[in-house]
Amino acid sequence: MRPEEKLREAVARLKALYGRLEPPGDTSNPFKVLIRTILSQNTSYKNELKAYSALEERLGVEPGRLADADVELIAECIRPAGQHRQRAIRIRQVARSVLERYRGDLWALLKSEPLEAVRKELMSLPGVGRKTADIVLLFCAKRPVFPVDRHIKRIFLRLGLVDREDYEAVRALAEEALEPDDYLSAHLAFIRLGREVCRARRPSCLKCPLSDLCDYAASGEHALGSPPLRGGR
Ligand code: SF4
Repeated sequence: MRPEEKLREAVARLKALYGRLEPPGDTSNPFKVLIRTILSQNTSYKNELKAYSALEERLGVEPGRLADADVELIAECIRPAGQHRQRAIRIRQVARSVLERYRGDLWALLKSEPLEAVRKELMSLPGVGRKTADIVLLFCAKRPVFPVDRHIKRIFLRLGLVDREDYEAVRALAEEALEPDDYLSAHLAFIRLGREVCRARRPSCLKCPLSDLCDYAASGEHALGSPPLRGGR
């Protein structure tokens, strides 16, 4: 089966299994989505949520509030996410940049053209990489980009859709194979599969709805208890 066909089949099955999935948090506010995604980098969903909630409760996730906040206080709020001092500095920098460059409002930028220039502009903000930029573009502005996280890279590699965990290779395949209307649900469904079934260690291949499509499952390594085919967090 060609990678594009396999991917479409996988997405159809996950949609049937999970139904309509909604992104977490308030997607009507791009700055909040930006900060939450920065906090999600290299941490669990549970710790990301704890850190974000504390920041919202104690300081308020608004550019004007975070731009002048004490770094130590930001760090204290986001401690559960890890690397809290480093991230606190980045969060204050990004708040200042959003205030200075866009008067605190990212909407005009998110709606502008061309898309690739908007993506580059977002990525020029402190602490904003490809994944964070693409999440803000898709979740908030429904722009046709497919954000890729560690779960998605791992699953694409195991399914045999790509030959390495490369952000742009995964994104290009997904954007080529899927309809833009499916990007959001496919992104969220693969993340859910990665958290619940296709975990980095000991994937539950016997319970997986994609096992008959999957190169890793076909290799039989999961049944032998072998370490999973590459693909860490
Ligand atoms: S069959 Fe196993 S390795 Fe393949 S996608 Fe499912 S859980 Fe992951």
